[in-house]
Amino acid sequence: MPREIIKYPNSLLLKPSQEIKEITPEVRALAHDMAEAMYAKRGVGLAAPQVGDLRRLIVVDTSSPEERNDLKILVNPAIIHHEGVVEEEEGCLSVVAFSAKVKRAAKVVVKAQDIDGNALELQGEGLLAICLQHEIDHLDGILFLDHISRLKRALYDNRLKKKLKAPKAPN
Ligand code: ZN
Repeated sequence: MPREIIKYPNSLLLKPSQEIKEITPEVRALAHDMAEAMYAKRGVGLAAPQVGDLRRLIVVDTSSPEERNDLKILVNPAIIHHEGVVEEEEGCLSVVAFSAKVKRAAKVVVKAQDIDGNALELQGEGLLAICLQHEIDHLDGILFLDHISRLKRALYDNRLKKKLKAPKAPN
């Protein structure tokens, strides 16, 4: 079974993640589990805090839904350059039943290590740029909800509160 993805407002999603000092077999297993969980939910990216692990590790695959053959595993990713602005609709596997337009840089360059510990630089634009910014935000405890207007955020928070308070239907 794929690992469960934790959902907002779980407080783990709001905490900063720790740098990974050594890529042990356990870190590789975590990356594998994260990719599995991402593919199971048809996501384009997932960050370690979303499976409840506060370490700086993300997986992304922005290939088309039929392909799903461009897995990138990034250890300790950081944005070292960004330019331009785009505004696109975003959702998140940890934010249930909500999406909103978010302003992001149109292009980014990310510095990271691959799963073997080799330094790499990755350039992204379009969906990849958005996805990289979204996932790296997770490592700093930031959700796409933090980028939208207060009003939209309050409306969503209220809707979620009601839903969480509602008695569970008997099964
Ligand atoms: Zn997300």
